[in-house]
Parts: sequence; structure tokens; C-alpha cells
Amino acid sequence: MQTRVIQLDRERPDSSAIVEAADVLRRGGLVAFATETVYGLGAIATEPRAVRRIFEAKGRPSFNPLIVHVDGMDRARECSLGWDELASELATRFWPGPLSLILPRSRRIPDEVTAGRPTVAVRMPATPVALALIGQLGAPLAAPSANRSNRISPTRAEHVLADLDHRVDLILDTGPTSLGLESTVLDLTTVPPRILRPGPLMAPEIEAAIRGLRLAEGPSRQGHEGTFPDATAPAASPGMLPVHYAPTTPAYRIGPGDDPHGIVWPDRSALLIVGELAGVRWPREVPRIVLAEPTVAARELYATLHDLDARGLQAIFVAMPPLGLEWAAIRDRLHRATRPLVEQLPLDVEE
Ligand code: AMP
Ligand code: MG
Repeated sequence: MQTRVIQLDRERPDSSAIVEAADVLRRGGLVAFATETVYGLGAIATEPRAVRRIFEAKGRPSFNPLIVHVDGMDRARECSLGWDELASELATRFWPGPLSLILPRSRRIPDEVTAGRPTVAVRMPATPVALALIGQLGAPLAAPSANRSNRISPTRAEHVLADLDHRVDLILDTGPTSLGLESTVLDLTTVPPRILRPGPLMAPEIEAAIRGLRLAEGPSRQGHEGTFPDATAPAASPGMLPVHYAPTTPAYRIGPGDDPHGIVWPDRSALLIVGELAGVRWPREVPRIVLAEPTVAARELYATLHDLDARGLQAIFVAMPPLGLEWAAIRDRLHRATRPLVEQLPLDVEE
């Protein structure tokens, strides 16, 4: 299959390209497009065969469900059952935006989308291109991140092409995404609701928006406290698998408990400092990149990892961000992209 790339204006995507993309989707094809979080790999959510192609293109395990993208609350209601007052309030406040809501699914949404689960994740993305496409189709779009499974998520069209060339029919290139991290996933099927995946929208903001709403302690809170579910624990949400979003170059995280002076730096290594680790004297000869501020770090994180991964390095070291809540989603993704430093030391000493 030939992959076509069409460049479009981010604010006013050309309508003939949207019509063309909708045709590709109606014929059961795959179209990658930007949302404000990352690029998504879209198929019509109500077409099981098209949705199966997403799993094939990504090499995604069939147990990992997809987020359904809608262009408003009415379509979200069609995809779910039990859309209630709370769902309406959250959507009114945060949509379009980086909040995916888990609800019981309606009959319109096939097993392929939800991996056989009785629930569905729905979200309204903010980009004109995504909304135009869904509107043109008059149907919801199932769209996971447009990368091969377990690779780094794409925040630019070039990342999609590098990973999925010949596996996706069309890429709509509207430039880099604005937020850079996957959406916050909020489970509304439990009382109280629980954050299954930390993202750009944080628990206090969600709680503050709805009077009396208290969220259950979930993975995001664990991230806040600096602890993470262990590798053997069953995943609360499939996207919370311990290894995910990883570069192919061995990547090691340097946490607060690690002694950076004990690191054995291979000749070709690089250091990514996320947040500022005060008081550490890093070796001057090791190339370093600093992402000091949370919003910028979120936006640049995946592009930085893509770049580092393309340099043919022996190792990437990541100085982990501090424990503040504003870093929780980034810490979560970095935990899944890296191994603990202790795994590096004995392995590379001989080199
Ligand atoms: P991605 O679109 O690649 O960022 O992945 C979507 C993620 O959304 C999955 O990995 C899950 O964590 C989450 N998700 C989607 N649907 C459900 C669901 N029905 N129940 C729980 N989590 C879900
Ligand atoms: Mg993904």
C-alpha cells in the first residue's frame, strides 16, 4: 500500500482533502490525523473490519481497546449507554479537550473497538482537522496513537510516516501537536470515578470543575507520590502496561534515589534532563537536552525521544522530573519508556 501525505492548514484544513480522507475511511481505509494530544490512526468506529486494520497496522495486542473520537456530546451519547449528568458536566467543561470518558458502550460500538469490554472510551478532540473529518463522515472515529505498538507516540506527521509507511492509506499533516501527551482517561463506570491514565488534565482540575466530585485514588495519584504499579499487577487499564511508549535504544531513568556519579556512560550516550535536578554535576562530554518546564516538556517529550532514538546511541539516560503533580503524566510516560538505572550498571561495565 502506498501511503499518501497531504499537508493542510492547521486552523482551516482544505475541505476537498477532508472529503477525500472521508472517502478513504468509508472504503475501510486508515487515515492518520492530528489531535491536540498526539496523531491518531483513525478508522470508522462502527466498521469492525476497518477497526481490525488498526490493530494489524500497529501490531497492537487485541486486548488493548481504542478511544472513540466524537464531534460532540450527541455522538458520544450514541456510542455509550448511561450518559448522565456527570458525563454532560464533564464534557461541557472539558470538551473539546484531552479527557477520555469511559462509559458502558452502546450496540453501535463493536467488540473490536472495546476489545470485548462492556465499556467504551469517548473523547472529543480539539483540532479542526479531526472535527471536520468526523463531521464529514457523520460517524465516530476509533483512533489510537498512530505508532507501532510499544513505540513512541507521534506528535508530528513525520513520526507517523517513519513508523507506519505502507501501513496507513493517508496522513493529514497539520504540523506538530499542541499538547504532546495522550489524553487523561477517566472511568465513569465506578463510584467514585477513577483516573486510569494520567494525562494533560489533572485530578484537581477535574474535581474543581464539578462541585462535590471526588475522584478515587488511581494511577495518577500513585504517579503523584512517585510509586508505580508493579509489573506483575494486573493492568487497571491496558494502556498502563509497564513497558509502553519506548524508544528502541536502551533507555535508563535516573530517579531521586539513584547516584548519578555511579553511572558508566558508554561512548555514545545522551542525557535527557526533565525538570531540573539541582546540584548534580553531569559529565560535560555527554550531550544533554533539558526540558525544564512541564508544558514544554509534554509538548516536546516524544519528538525529543524520537530524535534521540534516531542517533544510533548505545544508551539514553533520562533524569526524571520532580514529584509534583504537574509532572505526573510525564513521569508516567517516562517510567514506561525507560528501565531503572540499576539494570544498566552491570550490563555495560565491560564495554
Ligand atoms: P491510545 O489511544 O493508544 O492512547 O490507547 C487508548 C487507551 O485508552 C488504552 O490503552 C486504554 O488505556 C484506554 N481505554 C480505551 N478504552 C478503554 C476501556 N473501555 N476501558 C479502559 N481503558 C480504556
Ligand atoms: Mg498509544
